[in-house]
Amino acid sequence: MNQNLSFRDQKYIWHPYTQHKNMVFPVPVERAERTILFGADGRQYIDAVSSWWVTVHGHGHPYIAKKIYEQALKLEQVIFTGFTHEPAVRLAERLLPMLPGNFSKLFYSDNGSTATEVAIKMALQFWWNLLGQPEKTTERNRILAFKDAYHGDTFGAMSVSGRSIFTRPFRDQLFDVEVIDLPDASNINQLTAFLRENGKKIAGFIFEPLVQGAGGMRMYQAEYMNWLLQVCREEKIICIADEVMTGFGRTGTMFACEQLDVKPDIICLSKGITGGVMALGATACSEEIYEAFLHDDKLRTFFHGHSFTANPMACAASLASLDLFEEEKTLESISRIQKRNTAFAQQLKQLEDTALTISNIRVQGTILAFDVEVDDVRGYLNHLGAVITAAAMKEGVYLRPLGNTVYILPPYCITDEELDKVFQTILKIVVEGV
Ligand code: PMP
Repeated sequence: MNQNLSFRDQKYIWHPYTQHKNMVFPVPVERAERTILFGADGRQYIDAVSSWWVTVHGHGHPYIAKKIYEQALKLEQVIFTGFTHEPAVRLAERLLPMLPGNFSKLFYSDNGSTATEVAIKMALQFWWNLLGQPEKTTERNRILAFKDAYHGDTFGAMSVSGRSIFTRPFRDQLFDVEVIDLPDASNINQLTAFLRENGKKIAGFIFEPLVQGAGGMRMYQAEYMNWLLQVCREEKIICIADEVMTGFGRTGTMFACEQLDVKPDIICLSKGITGGVMALGATACSEEIYEAFLHDDKLRTFFHGHSFTANPMACAASLASLDLFEEEKTLESISRIQKRNTAFAQQLKQLEDTALTISNIRVQGTILAFDVEVDDVRGYLNHLGAVITAAAMKEGVYLRPLGNTVYILPPYCITDEELDKVFQTILKIVVEGV
């Protein structure tokens, strides 16, 4: 049966981010419950990366499942132009006041890349509308982004992401962006000068708040980010927080931007928005941005939309997930994980004579990460990631390092015992080697 599934998989499926030549067979998963993935091989794996950073309250949560089922029987999908529905409106009503900043409208899509595409297009068209829709302009037509950023795999999202192995085959097709380093004490004056000089060229600034995920779980200080955002505000640059990964508790607060004093104008959400159960994207914007599209001139319309915009079942899952944030004391679990991560980071820092040399041990909320020193290629292509995944799976833990960066980002229902098992597995790998 299992062999059969692997064979059929190999015959018909092309997996994401997978080199199929000499690949390790994907493990057939039969079911999942809370943090545990049940392999068809009879083995169990703790999902320490929340299945690509999406799972929030754990797999197979009966309350979310029930709400999706009930919604499916009532209204499973409807075109979202010319029609609306209760779950979409209710979710916007609940979500908008929770977001850090002044947000008045929510634009739905269906994944993280579309949530950021929408934000980039909103920022560019905001200015295009305000400038009188010029044929050609050098004003407010550029996007500012961080080096090593990751905002998704569609062309716009790739363009504003770091130029990396992910984007290399397409580099001639990507639009140019202004790229800056993460702000710190040493470069903040230089970055400020750059923005003062170039502000009028820039429509919007997109950033992953506090943690750059796919770029290698790079964490940075709120202090200098506040400074940078303040300068952006003064230069009227639209600030776009990509909270696709950081949203819904990952960094210790419901949204990472809560830890920033200067709030963004646009927030992109996906992944955890549905509790990680269904695909949904959402882009929230301020009233000022929305109003730049309100006009008798039809050309000012935001011509963007996806078939599954605001899918009612996905919205119902999101509402159920928000209920669970309130009912299951999820924020308490988040701070429990944060405390335990911090203690484990201390333990890692004190290790001596380990088989693997590790550095840059860091924690931001529920995310713990460190780098393994390697002699050959650093980053995503380093072979160590796959080797560590295999070693951890032998211990019943699923880790998926970003090359030589090892991290955990668990569902919040992870128990102390399960977290211990994850930590022990990491310790074993670091101390004994792979
Ligand atoms: N933005 C960020 C910060 C992300 O981490 C990701 C996905 N890892 C995306 C956007 C893209 O999301 P999706 O994979 O759902 O398109």
